[in-house]
Amino acid sequence: MASNVKKKGIISTCVILAVAIFMAVYAGMSFNKKRNFVEDVVTEGSAVTKTMKLSTYNSYLANTFGDVDIYVLEGEEPGGQALILGGTHANEPAGHMAAIVMLEQFKPTKGTVYVIPDICKSGLSHNDPLEGTPQYIHFTTADGNVRTFHFGSRASNPIDQWPDPDTYLHTSGDWEPLHLPENAQTTQTLSGSEVRNQNRCYPGIANGTLTEKVSYAVTNMIKTLNIDMIIDLHESSPEYAVNNAIVAHANAMEIAGMAKALTLEEEKGIAIKVEPSPINLRGLTHRELGDYTDAFALLCEVGNPSQGRFRGYTDEELAITGKDPCYKVASEIHNGALLYVDYSSGDFPISLRVARHIATVAALIDEMGYEYPEKEIIIDNVPDYDEMVAADDLGLWLR
Ligand SMILES: [Zn+2]
Repeated sequence: MASNVKKKGIISTCVILAVAIFMAVYAGMSFNKKRNFVEDVVTEGSAVTKTMKLSTYNSYLANTFGDVDIYVLEGEEPGGQALILGGTHANEPAGHMAAIVMLEQFKPTKGTVYVIPDICKSGLSHNDPLEGTPQYIHFTTADGNVRTFHFGSRASNPIDQWPDPDTYLHTSGDWEPLHLPENAQTTQTLSGSEVRNQNRCYPGIANGTLTEKVSYAVTNMIKTLNIDMIIDLHESSPEYAVNNAIVAHANAMEIAGMAKALTLEEEKGIAIKVEPSPINLRGLTHRELGDYTDAFALLCEVGNPSQGRFRGYTDEELAITGKDPCYKVASEIHNGALLYVDYSSGDFPISLRVARHIATVAALIDEMGYEYPEKEIIIDNVPDYDEMVAADDLGLWLR
């Protein structure tokens, strides 16, 4: 009797162990595949004249996971220079995809556009635990090719920097401020996990964490090349107040205000807000790159139901269509006062979100040229906002 019980115990232990090993191997293969999946960016037929490595601007980045490509689109005539960052937060796919569409479609005839679509490549290489988000999103091009892109995490992968401290003390490293407002602080204490938030690590530290190294390289690139404008592309939850907005450093407020009023709202009918960059919210692109470089520093936000807290079932379809019954209900309560986007249509597709980003980038670059003729950048082949929204098929703007 006793030996039977013992035998059963051994069998069930072995079965549980085998299931655990199978799950660990299966999950490990999935993590490994995502970590090493390389997105294809199509430069053939584009206006990309060369690519550079980000480690050009921070040698400590060489041979690390953060040493991404910088795509350079040079016009024949010299002019201003703009840097576009996508993928700062890898769970905000419209920022990442807008950068890829711009580098594949924009054709500058004057000035230079630099595009880094995966500035936080480490964040793209994993997902947020327990959020249930998809690992990838797919689009079909006009030629029928299916292209696969990452849907990642808000923060860098712990495999690249671990463990997080209990608290993260943001500092400005050795950088000398150029435009720091009076009474502004230069350090800030944040929760420990924010140490892996790319947009809390500027202006960056040359030999810091991987996230700080990447930020340092961006700051150094802007200073070395005398880049005139930097635009960081994001998305935010529909219930977050800073939404469908341009966040501007004080240096760039006039450009943002004019781009909003004259081009985006009056000419194109795109409702958008302009928000000032808070002086003591440290580590962000629109704050630090304005304080520590001479560039006009701007950040764009658009509403993304697949990252909001009201959302229901989360999958690739939600990331692409933005269609969510829970957000529809939220939009009908208190006349939509719970949300900061117009969700009356019941969706907020990625084609619309990317179109908003592209129209905003084009308007900001144009406005810089009107106000500062020596910084003018002229771009042909800018995807048309109305066409992108009407087609509702982002794949048509991918090569
Ligand atoms: Zn973001």
